[in-house]
Amino acid sequence: MAKKGELSKTAKASLALKDDRNHLTERVCAKCGERILLKELYPVKVATKGMVFYHKQHYQM
Ligand SMILES: [Zn+2]
Repeated sequence: MAKKGELSKTAKASLALKDDRNHLTERVCAKCGERILLKELYPVKVATKGMVFYHKQHYQM
């Protein structure tokens, strides 16, 4: 019984982690203007504006 509980806890934890990585944040890409998934979020500190955000692949350009 206890063992079964542990297993489902682990499964839940890994599912939560996966959901978190695919979470759509409130941040908007400064390059393309679309909202950014947490796993693609690239924060950049700009002296004049504070924090701005890019998709990781869009910051390269
Ligand atoms: Zn973008």
